[in-house]
This record gives sequence, C-alpha cells and structure tokens, in this order.
Amino acid sequence: MDTKTKTNTYIANTYGRFDVVAVGGHGSVIVDEAGKEYIDLGSGIAVNSFGVADPVWLAAVTEQASKIQHSSNLYYTKPGADLAEALCARTGMKKVFFSNSGAEANECAIKAARKWAADNKGADCYTIITLENSFHGRTITTLAATGQDVFHKDFTPLTEGFVTAKANDKDSIREAVAANKVAAVMMEAVQGEGGVVPLEKEFIDEVFRLAEENNFLVIFDEVQTGNGRSGKFFAYENFGVTPDIVSTAKGLAGGLPIGATLLGEKVKDTFTPGLHGSTFGANPVCCAAALSVVSRIDEKLLSEVREKSDYVFNTLAGKPGIEGVTGMGLMIGIKTSKDASEVVAKCQENGVLVLKAKDKVRLLPALNIPFDLLKKAVDVIAEAAK
Ligand SMILES: *Cc1c(COP(=O)(O)O)cnc(C)c1O
Repeated sequence: MDTKTKTNTYIANTYGRFDVVAVGGHGSVIVDEAGKEYIDLGSGIAVNSFGVADPVWLAAVTEQASKIQHSSNLYYTKPGADLAEALCARTGMKKVFFSNSGAEANECAIKAARKWAADNKGADCYTIITLENSFHGRTITTLAATGQDVFHKDFTPLTEGFVTAKANDKDSIREAVAANKVAAVMMEAVQGEGGVVPLEKEFIDEVFRLAEENNFLVIFDEVQTGNGRSGKFFAYENFGVTPDIVSTAKGLAGGLPIGATLLGEKVKDTFTPGLHGSTFGANPVCCAAALSVVSRIDEKLLSEVREKSDYVFNTLAGKPGIEGVTGMGLMIGIKTSKDASEVVAKCQENGVLVLKAKDKVRLLPALNIPFDLLKKAVDVIAEAAK
C-alpha cells in the first residue's frame, strides 16, 4: 500500500487531507514524495516556527535527545527550568505549567481559573466566558469553551460552566458578566480558526475594566497567536494589557509537541502538589527545542515579521478577486471572491501550500521565511485569486 492508501485504511478518519505526502524539506520549502517542491505558507499550522529541518533547532533537539530524552516530573530537569525562566522573563508572568498541546494548555488555564475562583470568590463562581467563533481545542472541556456550535454537535453533554459572548461587542460581554458568576474571560487576540479575526483594542480594554470591577481573571489563548506570530512575542502585547493566565503551544517548540500555561501574580500559587500534572510535561527534548526557539525570537526577528506582514497586506489588498486581508503579523486571512478552497487548490498546483480558516485563505508561514520566497508565493496567491 502507498502512504495515502495506508493512511486512509488505518488512521482514524478525522481529517480532510490535501493530496501531498510531505517527506522532507529545508526552511520554508517542503518536498513531497514525487520530489515536487512547495513554498510552505502553513508551517504545519503555525508550528514549524523556523521552518523544516532548521539547523539551529535541529542541533538543540539532537543535543538534548542524546543526553536524556525524558525523566518524568518526579525529578528535576534543566531544560524545563530554563524554559520556564525564559518565558517568565519575557512576559512578567510568574510560573509555568508544561503540557503537550494547545488543548491541554487551555485545560490547565481553565482548572487554574476555577481553583482561583473557588479559593477567592466561592465554589459557585465557576463560569468562564468565551467568545463566539473562538477555538480552544478538541477535548470535551475545551470544546465547551469553543464558541462554534459546529464542533459541539453529537458530542454533548459538554462540560458545564461556559458561556459565550459576541467578540468585539461590548454590550454582549457586559451582559454575560452581569448574568453569571464569573471566574474568567478567555479569548484569542486574533481568532485563528474562526477566520483570522483580530479583537479590537476597545473591546479588550472593556474586558479588563469588567475584570477589575468584578474581580475575575483574564485568560489569553495564545496557542496560535503566540511565540512571535503576531509581530510581538505574545499577541496581547499589541494591546498593552497584562493577562492573568496565558496558554500557548503550536509554535513554541518549533515542531515538537508542547503546551505551556503561564500563571501571573494572582494565580501563581493556585496550584499545589497533586492538583494537576502531565507525564510528558516539561519533556527535556521539547523544552530544549522551545528554549532555542524562544531565544531566537528577538526584536530583530519580530521587526522582520512585521515588515513581511506589511508586505503581504500591501501587496494583496485591492488586487482583483481579493475582497479583504485581515490578521496580524504572519497570521493572515484573505477573503477571496472565488471559493477559498478553489484558491488553495490552485496555489498547491502552482507550488505554494496555504491553509483555510472558515471562508478565508489563511497564511501562517515560518517566522523566518526568506523575503524572496514570500514574494514568489504572494504572486502565486494573487494569480490564483484572479
Ligand atoms: C490549535 C489551537 C488550539 C488547540 O491546540 P491543539 O494543540 O491542537 O490541542 C487551541 N487554541 C487555539 C487558539 C488554537 O489555534
């Protein structure tokens, strides 16, 4: 059997896949089984922060893998400690819990918020408000947090205690806060799966005002927007606010599984031994990879992310067949007159891999994509959208 047939025979049928068998590559170029090369504007859904087989990343991974690949959280390990310190130094957050995915990072954020509320406001203050069109993961609890009914169907009953408000609608969030005993509001600064829709500063400011007035926590889900993607280390920095809890995953370890939940001043001591855990959490190889990634997301790289972002926005906006460009940094949604799937297929045919989010073409290239490859790929997109 070839890989496609074997996949369709033996792997659970949960994904719609593009007709590409990726076997290798270098940087922002992916090579398929037939030897065809693609410019990769998806980076494995915002995961391969420095592209494929990046030499610096590879050295960090192989060095740690050759020392000790795993030891469990029964013992101390240096990569996890170093990474937690680096994340706290970067953000002013106080402590970090490590897990293996975005959904788990959000589960931890939700548990921390409920525990904080139980300790500080009472056991009945467990409601977490999330936003319509949000995406927070695929576990039963993070599905409950996800404000899109299409993901809920046939999986009910979901975890109780979640309420949705309309994104960028101050009245809606005020009403939700007034009607519930609230532990936290959880939101993405740019809704990724929801169609690459940034929140407005005024809306975010109102959430923080309500949090102050009603003593609840603010959680940012930076699973997709984090780790340099928005042109800042975390996307919330673009709004000049300081959340109580931040979850991140996808791009943090540049292609290895990791989740991290950052706990701020108010919640830094909420967890005590036995309240939460993860066997693979703070895995040394994943943490060494992440430490390497985080250390490279400096001001120079971030300013290049912003410059490349401006290039994509300026080049595509107003082109024939392009109705709008949204997003932030290298997280970009393109509304095309043609069906987005048609544009995605055309790009693939012409050697450019792009993604979809709702009815938009979505770009999530590696943070260090070379400008010449980005320019070539943008020309292919413009042509495909015509
Ligand atoms: C991808 C994503 C998740 C889920 O991450 P997994 O690693 O797939 O569990 C959660 N929140 C946001 C914003 C995401 O983009």
